Amino acid sequence: MVYVIVDLEATCWETRENRANETIEIGAVCIGNEGKWVDEFDTFVKPVTHPVLSEFCTQLTSITQEMVDDAPLFPEALDDFQQWINNCANGDQYVLCSWGYYDRVQFKNDCLLHNLPTQWLASHISLKHQYADIKNMRRPIGMKKALQKEGLFLSGTHHRGIDDAKNIADIFLIYQDFWTMPPNN
Ligand code: AMP
Ligand code: MG
Repeated sequence: MVYVIVDLEATCWETRENRANETIEIGAVCIGNEGKWVDEFDTFVKPVTHPVLSEFCTQLTSITQEMVDDAPLFPEALDDFQQWINNCANGDQYVLCSWGYYDRVQFKNDCLLHNLPTQWLASHISLKHQYADIKNMRRPIGMKKALQKEGLFLSGTHHRGIDDAKNIADIFLIYQDFWTMPPNN
């Protein structure tokens, strides 16, 4: 079993208007069988429904218009990501791990928008919810708070997919014997 810690960034607006959010970055870290960091993946993605990023989105994520203008569309970016997962898994099974369910929902929405299969998302866990259970907390907390709780520094830039994924991986590694994997694995 390999663990793919993934974090997405998406188009967004200050007012959280009811617009269709699309992925603009896929950041991920692969942790191998032995519970060690194996590799990392990062790509920007060019959104199609609202191709112009809001100022709010660039401020939040530090992702600029040029970064997404030069990026592949979602189908190509996803293909790259899946190839990277397959390389990392090397015939083994993988489980997608993210801080909350948001990333899985966002992936699913992008797949539906581009008429792509969603079956590859079936094996997924929310580290955020499991962390709350492990720590006997009444409700889940954000990644930043969890890092503080663990005495870890938030490295890199918060709300950049690859940096968020690396920070989440730091938490993952501390509790690697405690995560509950999906029943089908
Ligand atoms: P995160 O992984 O926390 O960086 O968030 C993933 C995505 O959720 C961001 O790229 C935004 O699309 C959206 N998001 C996060 N925080 C906010 C916020 N405060 N307001 C609006 N959208 C947000
Ligand atoms: Mg993020």
